[in-house]
Parts: sequence; C-alpha cells; structure tokens
Amino acid sequence: MATADWQREWQASITDPAALIRALDLDPGWLTAAREAAELFPLRVPAAFLKRIRRGDPNDPLLRQVLPLGAETEQTPGFVTDPVGDGQSLHPGGVIHKYHGRALLIATGACAINCRYCFRRHFPYAEANASTAQWQPALDYLRADSSIEEVILSGGDPLSLSDRRLAQLTEGLSVIPHLKRLRVHSRLPVVLPSRVDTALLEWLTGHRLQPVMVIHANHPNELDAEVAEAMRRLAGAGVRLFNQTVLLRGVNDSVKTLKALNERLFEIGVQPYYLHLLDRVQGAAHFDVEEPEAVELMQRLASSQPGYLLPRLVREIAGEPYKVPVEAAAK
Ligand SMILES: *Cc1c(COP(=O)(O)O)cnc(C)c1O
Ligand code: SF4
Repeated sequence: MATADWQREWQASITDPAALIRALDLDPGWLTAAREAAELFPLRVPAAFLKRIRRGDPNDPLLRQVLPLGAETEQTPGFVTDPVGDGQSLHPGGVIHKYHGRALLIATGACAINCRYCFRRHFPYAEANASTAQWQPALDYLRADSSIEEVILSGGDPLSLSDRRLAQLTEGLSVIPHLKRLRVHSRLPVVLPSRVDTALLEWLTGHRLQPVMVIHANHPNELDAEVAEAMRRLAGAGVRLFNQTVLLRGVNDSVKTLKALNERLFEIGVQPYYLHLLDRVQGAAHFDVEEPEAVELMQRLASSQPGYLLPRLVREIAGEPYKVPVEAAAK
C-alpha cells in the first residue's frame, strides 16, 4: 500500500535528543539528562509540532511537553507506574471497560508524539493492544455486552494506525447492533494535522456510527493555522469536536494561558471538555499542580469567561465510575 503523506512526516519525526537540542538552538548542557530520561521513555516530536516551539527558549510551554529532563528519573512518593488502575480493568483484546455504556479500546501502543507527562509511559502496550489480534477478541467483548453504546478508540494514539486497519475495525463495529457512537481520542490532529486527509474523513463518516473526536491540546500555541484547517475539515464532515487538556506545571498553569486556550479552541470549532489533574505517574512529578491551586485557577477562569468555554476539572480515581469532578469544598 502507498505510504500517505502523514506517514512519511511521522517517520521523519525527531527521536534523537541531540537533534532536538540542535534544531531549537538550546544549550547543549541539556543533552546528558535528556539522553538518560529518553531511555526510560523515548523522545518523539513531529516537525509540525517542532515548528511551533520558540528557538532558544528552554521554558517554551511546548518544548516542556517533549524534552526529556533529569527530573523524570527521580522517584517521588505517591507517583506510581499505573496511576489510573488500567491494568486491573484490562480485558483480553485491549478493551478497558470502566464506565457504564462506553468501552475504551487500546487500539495501538504507538503515538505520533511522546508527551513527557503521559500516564501511559509505563503501560505494557505490546501485550495489551487490540490490533495485533486482528481486532477479533475486542469485537467479541463488545458484541457480548449490550449495555455498551459507545466505543472509544484510544491508545497510544488510534490515528497512528493506517486507514486500512481502522476500516477493518469499523467494519466489525458497525454490525454490532447496540453500538451508536464511535469516539476517537487523538492528539494527531494537533501534532500532525496532515493526518486529517480525505481518506481519514471518508473513514470517519463511512459507517453508520456517529463520529465524535476528542483532541488533546494543552496550550494555545499548539493550535496554529494548520490545526484550524484540520478542525474545519472534520467539522465540515459532521464530526463533533471536543478537547481535553492536562493541567501541567510550567505549561498551562495560569489563568491567562487557560483562557487563551479555551478561546482559541472555540474559535476553531472545538468545545473545551475536560481539564485533567495530572495522573500521578512515576517520572512526571515535576508537572504536578496540586488540587487547591487547580480549583482556584478554575474559579478565576469561571469569573472571566462564559460558562460554555469552561472545561470540567476532573481527576481520574481508580475504581470510581466516572472521572471525578474536582470542586471547591463547600463553605
Ligand atoms: C476517560 C475514559 C472514558 C470516557 O469517559 P467520558 O467521561 O465519557 O469522557 C471511558 N473509559 C475509560 C476507561 C476512560 O478512561
Ligand atoms: S499522545 Fe496521548 S497517549 Fe501519546 S504520549 Fe501523548 S498523552 Fe500519551
């Protein structure tokens, strides 16, 4: 099969810490720690994301999401390898069924970008992903439980799979009568907007399931004109668009940044959905914003923006039946 443009772009991503430091004119002093941390979780940055990073600025909010740091090698009490309990809820075939009515499919372990704060940095993808067995065990699980109305493709990043693999999956899904919606959780439309090509739109709309997309952006600088164009194409094809953000120290932990993010999302046709407190994964403690500070940020946001621009501040707690809203304690 022909290699699509987005696949070529993805293959050309930066994976070598020295190349990243050189490309961005950063102090070579960052290199030793970057190499060490990249051994725990590899570096990966596509060019479309790289070009939105300011050169020579080690504090750039996009750079902080991708540059491996020495802090990742520190052990912090309370920060563990599986903070959301996915290991416990994983069914054969890569299905995670924690919430009523919707089941999440680990469609692949691959991502177009490696985000340093990711809670899946220690997840055993090779054993757990659904595509390796031609989707069959996952489809069997979904068919057997008629309470499931929505399938969420997640990962890794499901849009890193080829259109052919995705079409095999939706052929199987669309004949399961109780399924209504297909939700895609993906960061590709943000970090590699060329993924949103005609073939992708045809796949998303070429079956009877209602398509929903939840993108993942953390900072307004991620949402350039190419991303806006990708959103326009998705919305034009009838795909409902939402965004989830992780609250990250040094990236978006200010009212000014969150406000600009919500406004930019709305401008490009995307509804702010969730603002997640960081999942406490080992190696990401330096990104943590504690709950009281997060609640205060949300209160200040609520005082400065229309209600429809506010995402819900949530934390994932293993064993809870939904993402738990984080609110100010009652007075
Ligand atoms: C986050 C998540 C969902 C989706 O939850 P919504 O509140 O519907 O967005 C579903 N299943 C799992 C396992 C999840 O982690
Ligand atoms: S794209 Fe999503 S799953 Fe992949 S590394 Fe980033 S946060 Fe994790």
